[in-house]
Amino acid sequence: MNDTIKPALRGTPFPGGDTRAIGTPMQPSVVYASQDPDALDAVYEGRAAGYSYAREGHPNADVLARLIDGMEGGTGGLIMGSGMAAVTATLLGLLNSGDHIVAGNQLYGRSLRLLDQDLPRFGITATLADPTDAGAFAAAIRPETKLILVEVVSNPTLRVADMEGIAALARARGLILVVDNTFTTPRGYPALANGADVVIHSVTKLLAGHSDVTLGYVLARDPAHRQAIYDVTTTMGLTPSPQDCWLAERGLYSFELRHDRAQENAATLADMLAASGKVAQVLYPARADHPDHARATSILTNGFGNMVSFTIKGGRAEAVALTRAMPGVAFAPTLGDVATTLSHPPSSSHRGLSPEGRRALGISEGFFRVSVGIEPIAHLLGEFQRGLDAV
Ligand SMILES: *Cc1c(COP(=O)(O)O)cnc(C)c1O
Repeated sequence: MNDTIKPALRGTPFPGGDTRAIGTPMQPSVVYASQDPDALDAVYEGRAAGYSYAREGHPNADVLARLIDGMEGGTGGLIMGSGMAAVTATLLGLLNSGDHIVAGNQLYGRSLRLLDQDLPRFGITATLADPTDAGAFAAAIRPETKLILVEVVSNPTLRVADMEGIAALARARGLILVVDNTFTTPRGYPALANGADVVIHSVTKLLAGHSDVTLGYVLARDPAHRQAIYDVTTTMGLTPSPQDCWLAERGLYSFELRHDRAQENAATLADMLAASGKVAQVLYPARADHPDHARATSILTNGFGNMVSFTIKGGRAEAVALTRAMPGVAFAPTLGDVATTLSHPPSSSHRGLSPEGRRALGISEGFFRVSVGIEPIAHLLGEFQRGLDAV
């Protein structure tokens, strides 16, 4: 027998030494070994640091959560497998059958579906109201209302919610204020500092920034809320993958630079679009002609964001012509990528609405939403000019 030949067994130590890796290690292990049952008890009961099973938590999620906590100015944030997992865990964690939600009427499409189709099956109902009018939110409150869900900047018309009025209302009526801060980012709107009880992000979007991970984040101010949201996340398996957390962490280190550049590009693009004879309307909160410009100026602390919407003169035929004439900008229904993406809500996010329903929101066949990226501005202006020339 040759005793230099050995079977491959678990347990080879990871080589360390006197140097330190600059990059965060990725830890894909699903399971963690403990010394003995007493040591495992200590981990489960929080008396000792450590992990047990990746669905319950893992180091890459914690590294990412601590970084986003810092940006939001809080502690104890949780990472979920997607932005919708974050919304779902929050609502199922904090609400019981019989409870009622008041929510913005232009929330992310899947959040609207959750409120409209899924939560009612569990006895949780919602009333939608115009978030630019805190009075409309007040009027929608019922005795069984427990929670308000709002996005600061709406999709796709980029209306800016009356966050001061809504936060004051939530405080006065003892309601849990949940802010989905995805569009605004912690940099654009410090949600926790402005009275949110729970802050949600789709990390998939600007925070990770490269369209290669799907992740969510929830920060709850109240430890009991945090525990309830954590328990739903773990039990329902809304857990993030370590690989995604690792990639999102890498994206986060360039977030501020990307955010600055994307906002600068967005402002320039909005002005260029507004000056075109082919464009009927531009929506960008930095512009004086935006319906919520004054409010945007007072509540958005670090620029006006990377989202620009515009309506061309014409209908579906002109919309198709514009899209085809600018292949250098991806026609794709997402946001927050390093590259600019163009979306057409009538054929994507808002295709489920009737034409009248869309018209009520100001969305015609000529309506586009742009998630502005960090390309050289000359490239973007050139692409959009080609698109407009084809209209
Ligand atoms: C994209 C998005 C979500 C959902 O996030 P996913 O990561 O795609 O699940 C929720 N809220 C807002 C505002 C979003 O833009």
